[in-house]
Amino acid sequence: MPSPAQDTPTRHEQHGRYPRAETVDDFRHNLAAVQARIAAACRRAGRDPAGVRLLPVSKTIDEARIRQAHAAGCHFLGENKVQEAHHKWEAMQDLDDLQWSVIGHLQTNKAKLVARFASEFQALDSLRLAETLDRRLQLEGRSLDVFVQVNTSEEDSKYGLAPADVPAFVRELPRFGALRVRGLMTLALFSEDAERVRACFVRLRGLRDRLRQEAPDGIGLEDLSMGMSGDFEIAIEEGATVVRVGQAIFGARATPDSHYWPTGTG
Ligand SMILES: *Cc1c(COP(=O)(O)O)cnc(C)c1O
Repeated sequence: MPSPAQDTPTRHEQHGRYPRAETVDDFRHNLAAVQARIAAACRRAGRDPAGVRLLPVSKTIDEARIRQAHAAGCHFLGENKVQEAHHKWEAMQDLDDLQWSVIGHLQTNKAKLVARFASEFQALDSLRLAETLDRRLQLEGRSLDVFVQVNTSEEDSKYGLAPADVPAFVRELPRFGALRVRGLMTLALFSEDAERVRACFVRLRGLRDRLRQEAPDGIGLEDLSMGMSGDFEIAIEEGATVVRVGQAIFGARATPDSHYWPTGTG
């Protein structure tokens, strides 16, 4: 039986229209608005808002505005490109409570950068990368929270494992002692068709639920990182525990999404 929540639309039509935050107060205002949308989605789904972490995504945002966001309460930021993230980390060493999550595809030859500074990596998609990250982390004496990225949209996206390949992949992960496996991550289809977007989130949750029953010891699969500015309410209705939100906090981005991931036609 369809619940009222199933009518939740995407907000992709907002694309390019989120106002730009330029003061600490603007950031407080936008963060409160996003938290209110999170709370409303949780109410519809009968969930506790404490079970949803908001990860602000600061890609393309310069240091001055990131410092404003930090002053407004953003202490954990997501970045798609590792070099951009690393530069920002270096530039803001004085903010010792600021942590970084790398949420975009990573080439193996850049694993050592992630191992140096990131607190979280959400786009794990190959054993070679897991192995390299683990080795680099051991050298640094660090560990890293990781999410396995899954391609739930059936687009010919290069990024993320096919759902059918995830169980075998997860079974290999316990041998990488520096990786703490937290859960799964996905990017939904970018479409105004809310039901096709929702289907991506349902697929990720179903996969997580099946994996959890057979997960090896030490592999936590609690988290589902899914949902961004245009679709995070739908993701929360389907079980997201982490939502990655950029434009609704920082303002519309000029850089097209195709710069970050292959886009389909939807
Ligand atoms: C940019 C980005 C987001 C956030 O997108 P917005 O439209 O700015 O909310 C989420 N996830 C990933 C992987 C991203 O690169």
